[in-house]
Amino acid sequence: AGHATQDLITASDAHGAHNYHPLPVVVATAEGAWMTDVEGRRYLDMLAGYSALNFGHGNRRLIEAAKAQLERVTLTSRAFHHDRFAAFCAELAELCGMEMVLPMNTGAEAVETAVKTARKWGYRVKGVPDGRARIVVASDNFHGRTTTIVSFSTDQEARADFGPYTPGFDIVPYGDLDALRAAVTDDTVAVLLEPIQGEAGVLVPPPGYLPGVRELTRERNVLFIADEIQSGLGRTGRTFACEHEGVVPDVYVLGKALGGGVVPVSAVVSRKDVLGVFRPGEHGSTFGGNPLACAVALEVIAMLRTGEFQERATELGEHLHAELGLLTGTGKVTGVRGRGLWAGVDIDPSYGTGREISEKLMDRGVLVKDTHGSTIRIAPPLVIGKDDLDWGLDQLRAVLGA
Ligand code: PLP
Repeated sequence: AGHATQDLITASDAHGAHNYHPLPVVVATAEGAWMTDVEGRRYLDMLAGYSALNFGHGNRRLIEAAKAQLERVTLTSRAFHHDRFAAFCAELAELCGMEMVLPMNTGAEAVETAVKTARKWGYRVKGVPDGRARIVVASDNFHGRTTTIVSFSTDQEARADFGPYTPGFDIVPYGDLDALRAAVTDDTVAVLLEPIQGEAGVLVPPPGYLPGVRELTRERNVLFIADEIQSGLGRTGRTFACEHEGVVPDVYVLGKALGGGVVPVSAVVSRKDVLGVFRPGEHGSTFGGNPLACAVALEVIAMLRTGEFQERATELGEHLHAELGLLTGTGKVTGVRGRGLWAGVDIDPSYGTGREISEKLMDRGVLVKDTHGSTIRIAPPLVIGKDDLDWGLDQLRAVLGA
C-alpha cells in the first residue's frame, strides 16, 4: 500500500475503536460494482456492503431520489406526520404481501423490534403468562450486535464479556426440525431464523426445513419471524429467500438493501393482528421512518417491483455457481453454498485462511470478505456486469493457481 493509504489507516487506528479489522484499502469513490481507493486503484466490489448495495454504488435512481428529498424535508421525527410515510408503509407492505410496517434504521434495531413484537403478541394475543415468553433461535445465527441479540448468539467472539445476558431464548441447531419441534413449548411466542445464514458462511438449510418450520409454527400458534436483512430484497434471485421454499413467514425483518446503501433503513413487516399490538409510546425511534429514508426506500421498492434485479441475480447466480462448481472439481475449493448471486466458498486451508485469500484477492483488485476459517463470501452488487463477474472469478482462480 502507498503512503496515502498507510497514513489514513494509521490515523483511523489512532482514534477509531478497533472493533473491525478491515482490509488495508481506503476507498475514496465508487460507482456500480467498482470502488476506487485514495491512490486511484480500482477494485471490483464482490461484497456489496454485506448486501446493502444490491443496486450498486451511486445508483442514479437512488441518488436522485435522495437528492430530491434532501431539498424538501429530511426529518420530522414521528412527533409529526410527513408526506412520504404513508406511501412507504403501503408499498413495503404490498411488496411483502403483508399489512403493516414498523420502520427502524439498522438491522439490529429491527430484530429488537421483532423480539418486542413477538413478546407483546405472546402476552396480548396468544395469552402467555406474564414474563414467561420464549423465542427459539438457531445456532450460528447472526442477527446483530445489541446486548439482547448477542445474548442468543453462539459465537463467543460476539458474546464474551457482554453479559449479563437477556433471558428468554432457546437455541437449537440450524436446519434440524426435530430439535426445533422439541424446543417449542406453550410459552414459545416465536421462532426467529435467517432463511439462509449469511454470516455463518451462506448456509442454506436442507430442503423442506423452512416449510417444516412454517407448519410447526402454525400448528403451535407461534410466530415465524424470518430475518431477511441479508438474504432478502433480490440477493437470492427472489424478493425473499423464503420464496424458494414457497414459505410465507408471519414476520419479515428487513434492512440493508432497503436503504440502497444510501441511508440506513430497516423495518418489521407483518399482519395487523401482529404489529397491531403496539400502542402509542410503547416503541419508537427518532430516525425510524424519516422522510429521507422513506424516499430512498420507496425507490428501492419500485425497483424491486419490476423483478429485473431478482432476474439478474438468478441469471448471474447460475453462472457464478456453475463456475464455482468447476473450481470444486479441482479440489482447491472444498465447498460452495448459496443461492442467486450469493455464495459461501470454502477454500482448502492449505491455500490460506479466508483473510489471507481476501488479501491476495485485494492485491489483484477484487474485494471480498472472509467469514469463518477459510470461507470467503461472494455477494457482488446485482448490477455487476457479467464480464466483470468473470474477471473477478479469474482473479480467484489465479489466487488458487487453478
Ligand atoms: N440480521 C442479519 C441476517 C444480518 O446479516 C445483519 C448484518 O449483517 C443484521 C441482522 C444486523 O444488521 P445491522 O448491522 O444493520 O445492525
